[in-house]
Amino acid sequence: MVKVDYVVLDLETTGLNPQTDQIIEIGAVKIGHGVLCEEFSTLINPRSAIPQEITELTGISPEMVEHKPVITEVIGDLEEFLHNGVLVGHNIFFDRGFLQPYLRGNYVWLDTVELAKILLPYETGYSLGDLARSLGMDHIYAHRALGDARTTAFLFLHLLEELKKVDFPVLTTLYRLAQNHQSGVSALITQEFSARARFFPQDKIGSRQLVLMGDTNKGLFSSSFIKEKNENYRISQPEIDRLFQPGGHLSAILDAFQYRRQQEEMAQAVSDSFNKDQHLVVEAGTGTGKSLAYLLPALLWSVKSGKKVVVSTHTINLQEQLINKDIPLAGEILGLDFHAAVIKGRSHYLCLRKWEHWLEEAGGEGQGFMMRLVLWLSQTETGDGSELSLARKELLDWQRFAAGRDTCFGAKCKFYRGNCFVSRAKKLAELSHVVIVNHSLLLANAAANDNILPDFKYLIIDEAHHLEKVAEDQFGAEIGFFDLIAIFNRVKKSGANYPAGVLDHLAHKAAPWDFLDEDIKQGLVNSMHEAAPVVGECIKYAGEFFAVLDAFLSHDSSSGGLHSRTVRILPSHRCTEKWEGILAAGDNLMVKMKELMKILLASGEKISLAESGFGLEIVESHEINLLLSTLHQLIRDLKVVIEGDEDYFVSWVEYSGENSYPLLHTAPVEVREQLHQYLFSAKSSVVLTSATLAVGGDFGFFSESIGMDLSPAPVRVMQLESPFAFEENVLLSIASDLPDPSVAPEFLFSDGVAHALIKLIAASKGRTLVLFTSHHQLKQVFEKIKGPLRQEGITVYAHGLTGSRTKVLESFKTRENSVILGANSFWEGIDVVGEALTSVIIVKLPFWPPTLPTVSARLDRYRALHINGFRRYSLPQAIIRFKQGFGRLIRSHSDFGVISVLDRRLYEKKYGETFLKSLPKVKITVDNTDELAKIIKEWMHTKGLRQ
Ligand code: SF4
Repeated sequence: MVKVDYVVLDLETTGLNPQTDQIIEIGAVKIGHGVLCEEFSTLINPRSAIPQEITELTGISPEMVEHKPVITEVIGDLEEFLHNGVLVGHNIFFDRGFLQPYLRGNYVWLDTVELAKILLPYETGYSLGDLARSLGMDHIYAHRALGDARTTAFLFLHLLEELKKVDFPVLTTLYRLAQNHQSGVSALITQEFSARARFFPQDKIGSRQLVLMGDTNKGLFSSSFIKEKNENYRISQPEIDRLFQPGGHLSAILDAFQYRRQQEEMAQAVSDSFNKDQHLVVEAGTGTGKSLAYLLPALLWSVKSGKKVVVSTHTINLQEQLINKDIPLAGEILGLDFHAAVIKGRSHYLCLRKWEHWLEEAGGEGQGFMMRLVLWLSQTETGDGSELSLARKELLDWQRFAAGRDTCFGAKCKFYRGNCFVSRAKKLAELSHVVIVNHSLLLANAAANDNILPDFKYLIIDEAHHLEKVAEDQFGAEIGFFDLIAIFNRVKKSGANYPAGVLDHLAHKAAPWDFLDEDIKQGLVNSMHEAAPVVGECIKYAGEFFAVLDAFLSHDSSSGGLHSRTVRILPSHRCTEKWEGILAAGDNLMVKMKELMKILLASGEKISLAESGFGLEIVESHEINLLLSTLHQLIRDLKVVIEGDEDYFVSWVEYSGENSYPLLHTAPVEVREQLHQYLFSAKSSVVLTSATLAVGGDFGFFSESIGMDLSPAPVRVMQLESPFAFEENVLLSIASDLPDPSVAPEFLFSDGVAHALIKLIAASKGRTLVLFTSHHQLKQVFEKIKGPLRQEGITVYAHGLTGSRTKVLESFKTRENSVILGANSFWEGIDVVGEALTSVIIVKLPFWPPTLPTVSARLDRYRALHINGFRRYSLPQAIIRFKQGFGRLIRSHSDFGVISVLDRRLYEKKYGETFLKSLPKVKITVDNTDELAKIIKEWMHTKGLRQ
C-alpha cells in the first residue's frame, strides 16, 4: 500500500459565506511518494437554491444535485479518505470554513496560495488558474472540485520541488520566522530545514547574509551611462525628418508603419522646445503616437547633449508601456546606446534597516508576511515591492518595511552606501539618460520633500490633465488618528515590554557604556522616563480631539456615493460655540506634542555631547531629527485644520467604513503658484501632453489651473487632431426621453437609465462600456438590468460588484456579448481594440459634485471674485472628463461604434454646444431611446458588425 503524505482537497459551494452558503461538491486527491494515487469525488445536495452565477461558473445545476446525498451523509466516507492526513488546498481556509463543522478528525491545513507566494514571489497572480497558466500546467475541469483538486495537487508537487531548491541561508531565515507563525506551511518549512540542517554549517548564517545574497550591484554603477556631452547640440529638422518621414527609420522598423503627420509635427515641436528652452503644451488626439513623438527627440537630446530628460506619467500602466515597449522600440529606431530607468517614490522600496530590525525582533507580529518577502529579497535587484503583486491587505503589511523620507537614516545608515535600494535607485537616476517617474514623485521631489531625483532641466509630463489633482494631494496633508499614534510610539512605545521607541532604544543602548559621562547617560534615561507619560497624554488628547471633531461633523456626512462621505470644514463651523470644544481639544493635543518635541530636543543635545565628547556615532540622532520635523509639520497641519486658512487651504474630514475615526485633510485651494515655482520657473523646458487638455479648442482652463499662464515667456500650445476617421466611424446618439438629472429625483433618473440601457445594450448585442459618475447609481442600475440582459444572452460585469477593474476588463474582453458598468477610473485608461467594444454609453455629464471639498472651495473663491465658477471651472473640467470617456471608443484606424449619452442637457442646454465643439467631428442623432435602439442596430449592421 502506498504511504499517503498529503490529501489535496477542493469544494464547490453555493457562495462565499460558510455561515449562509452550502457545499455542492467535494473533490479530493491523495499524494503518496510524490505521485497522485487515489481520488474522491461527490456532488452534494445543498438543500438550498444554487444561484445562477454559480451554475454558470461551475456547470453544476440544481437538477444535478437534486437526488444526491446531503453533506452529513458523505462526511464519514470523506473522513475515511482523509485519514487524519495533512490537508492541502488552494486557499484552503475557505474550504476549511465550510468543512470544519462536520469533521471529527484533527488535521493540519496547508495552503498552496501561502506557499506559492513564498516560493514563487515573482508571479503576477496567485489564483489557481493564474499559476497553472504560468507554470504550463493543464487546468482542465476548472471550477469543478475534482478538476481543481488535481491541478492543486500538481501545483503542490511543483512547490515541493521549489522548496528543495531554496538556498540553505534563505531556508534558515524562513525557518526562524516559521517558528513564530503557526501554519501548515511553517510545519513544511520546519520539516525541510530539519532534514537539511545536519549537513550545513549553521555558524555561517547571519541575518545580514540574506540581504547581501541578491545580486544587487552587477557592476551597474562602475561608470556613468552618460558619456557624450555636447552642450551646444540642437536637434535638427533633418534628424526628425529622417525618423518620421516615409522611408525613414520608423518605417524601416515598424511592420505596420503608417505615416502620421501629427506625430511628426509633435516631435518637431518637442525638439524646438528643447532647442529653444521653451515650454510646450500639446493636445494629441488618440492615435497620434505621442509616446514616440516625445521619446525620440528626448533620447536624441539626452544622449547627444548629455542633458537628462525626465518623463512623468500619472499611471503605472503608461510607465510600464514606456519602459517595456516604447523605449526599447525607440532605441531600435535610433540605433543609439542609452540607458532609461523607472524610478519610484521611496515607499515602493524595501528599507533594509527596517527589515533587519524586524528580523531581529522575530517573535513580533507579521511573521507570515515576512516569510513572503524572504526568497524575493534574496533575488531582487531593485527592492521594488511592486515586483511582488501584493494583495490589498498585504500592502498594509508592506508599509512596515517600506522606505520613507521620515524614517531614513541617510548617510548614517549602514546600508546607505551599499545595498540600500533607495540609494541604488537614486544612483540609477543620476546615471540614466531618460528617467521615468510618476507625477507624485515628480512633485514631491520638486517641492524638496523627497530628493530621490538628481538635478534635471528637461521634463515631459504625459497624462498632464492629472497634474493639478496630484499637486492638490501632494501639497496638502492627511492626518489620521492611527498615524498620530504610530508617530508617538516611535518616540516611546507606550506599555511595551521591550525597547521599541527611539528613546527606549537610546537608554537601552547607553546602559552598558561605562565610559560615558554619568550626566549624559542619566539625561538619556531621564528623557525616556519623562516621555512615557507625555506620549500617553498625546495619545489620550489625540483620541479626544478626533472624538469631538467626529461628534461635531459626522451628522453632516451622508452615506451615499463615493464622494459624499466627506465634510468640508467651513468658516461657519469655526464660528460656532461647539467649535470652541474642538479648539480646546486641538490645543491640548498640540501643547503635548510640543512637550514631546522638547524632550526629543533634550535627548538630541545629550547625543551631540556624547558624539563630540566621546567620539561616538549614534544612529538614533537621525531618528530624533526625523521625528522632530514630522511633529513640527503635523502641528502646522493641525493648526490649518483647527484655525483655518481659508485664503490658501481647504480642510475636510473623510469618513470611511474601515476607520473608526475620520481622516483629516487639508489641500491648497489652488496649486498654480506652487507648480509655477517648482516646475515652470525651475526647468528650462517642460512639455505637457495628453489627449484631453483643450476645451472647445482653447487651452486657457488647463494653462491657468497649473500656473502655466504665470510664465513670463510665451508658452507654445498646439492641438493635433486624431488621425482616425471619426466622422465616418462614430455615431453620437443623444437620448431625449430621460429626465434631466440635475432636477429629477435620483431614483427616477436611475429608473430611466436602467430602461434605456436594456434597450441600447441589446441593440449592440453587448460590447458596451457604460460610464457612470457615481458608484451608488451604478449599483442601483446593475440590480435592475442584469436579469433582463441575461435573458438576451448578455452578461453584465459591474466594477466593484462582480470583480476588480482588472478582472471585469479581462472577463469583458473574453466574453463576446458582455457589458461593463464602470465609474471613476473607467473614464480613462480602458483600451479595448476591435469589435469587443463598439458602444460607449455616458449616463450623465461628468460634472464634479459641487459638494466635493476642493470643488466647493474653488467655487467659493470664484464667487468672491465675482467670476462665474460654473463657466470658469465646473464646465471645462466636465468637458475634459467627457472627452476622456468619449476617447474609450475608437482605439485604432479600423474601430467604429456608437457613443450614447443619456443626459438631455447635452442638447438642451446652451453649454452643451461647448461639449460638442470639443469633440472630433461626428454624426449626431437625437431621439427617444426606442428609436435610438433601432438606429444603432441598423448603423451597426451597415458597419458589418455580426448580430
Ligand atoms: S539608507 Fe534609508 S532607506 Fe536605505 S536602508 Fe538605510 S534607512 Fe533604509
